Parts: sequence; structure tokens; C-alpha cells
Amino acid sequence: MEKYKEFETWRNAALTKYLSDRGWKTTGDHKMLVARAFSAWENNIPVQPSAAELAETAKKEYEQLVEGIEDPLQFGPEAWTTETEGIEGWPNVMYSDIYDYIMKEHPGKDQTLNNRMLNAYKEGKAYTFYTNGWLQEVQSCKRGGLVYLRAKCTPSCKINEFPHKAWVCCHQTGTIKEAYCSCTAGLGQSCSHIAAVLFKVEAAVRTYLVNPACTSTAARWNVAPGKRVQKRKCKDLCLKNDKFGKTGVYL
Ligand SMILES: [Zn+2]
Repeated sequence: MEKYKEFETWRNAALTKYLSDRGWKTTGDHKMLVARAFSAWENNIPVQPSAAELAETAKKEYEQLVEGIEDPLQFGPEAWTTETEGIEGWPNVMYSDIYDYIMKEHPGKDQTLNNRMLNAYKEGKAYTFYTNGWLQEVQSCKRGGLVYLRAKCTPSCKINEFPHKAWVCCHQTGTIKEAYCSCTAGLGQSCSHIAAVLFKVEAAVRTYLVNPACTSTAARWNVAPGKRVQKRKCKDLCLKNDKFGKTGVYL
């Protein structure tokens, strides 16, 4: 109880600081503060990092993230191409690229979100990540052999808040190098905003909006090896309803 007696000699201001440094409540009279401080001491409650320290850590983590690439948050507005003008030059992001990226080990990896994203994709619902209205235009910028994509996302339930800023850095081939979002989960590099950007690009690739000159080449797509395709009238066609059809949405 020696420590308890020591706390009893402390003034309220000192006790309040001791408690708030450890994220504990600071209400109550002197007796209450002493008891709480003693409990915190006895349980070895560590000092919580201050807001400034947290900001400093986030800054350092961000600097690590953009090491070896250019920082897209520093690009001027003129560097970015609009979605309509830039879509044909978007990177060739495919499902396997997204899978590789979200399964990659990184700090703050959210396995639950990863599973949710992958399941949504498998069930043909990945579009919900970007069709719910809060993913704004995806803009692109090509620099140093890499493609940067950025988009603003408004939190769906908080439309009055500032939108989150998400960016993704890819090789033109589709391999995802880095990604970031200003939401709290962002430095973990997997949040639903980043997923929304990635799935939107993937859908654009899959529907031949990206690099159309290449993908629409007849020689690549219209040849069915070993089988000639016969012309048929529409009424003679047998149309199957696959699992994507259940949703009524075709990507
Ligand atoms: Zn986010």
C-alpha cells in the first residue's frame, strides 16, 4: 500500500494526468482518483500514445508505403486523367491480381474483410463494393512505368463527412504494388474503399473497356479452336441462366 499512500499525496491535477495518459476516466473526487490511479499502477496499464504520437506513426508508415514509388497525394490536379478519358489505359487488373494483393501479408491485414471481398466476388456481388453510390470517379495517372488510380469515397452512412481518399498503384500488367486509403483502416492497405476501386477496374477489364483495341481483336477472341460456330436465329438459341443471372446484374 506504499504506492497507494504516495498517490494520496498527489494533487488532483497530477492524478488526472496520470489517468488520462493511460486512457482511464478522470472523473470523481480525490479519493476516487487515488483509488483509480492505484488500480492502474497495480495492473501495469501502459501510457497511451498521444494524438500527436499517433499522427507521427501514421506519417512514418505512409512514408514507408510510398518508398520506391511517387506519392500520389502530392500529384497536382493536372496530373490526373478523368475516368472517361483514362479508362482504356487502366491497368489490366484481374481477379487473380486482387486475390494476390489482399492475401499478401501486411500490417493491419483484415482477414475478415478479405474473406468477405473474395466471397462477394465468387458470388458475383463484387459490384456492390462500387455500385452503392459512394465510390466517386476513378482517375488515373501514368508515371515511371506505373499506373496510379485514385478515387474519393464518401462513407455510405455519413454523407456529410469528408470523403476518404483512396489510391492504388499498379503495374500496367495488373499487378498491384501498393494501395492506401485515408480511412482509419487505410494503412492496413485493405479496406472496402480500396476494394471498391480494385473491383471497378477489374470489372472494366472484364467487360473490355480497358485496352479495347487489343481485346476486341477478332483473331484473339472469335476463333473457337476445332469448332466452327454456326449462325443461328435468335429464336433458336438456348439461353442459360447462370448464377450471376440471379442478381439481374450483368457486368
Ligand atoms: Zn478506406
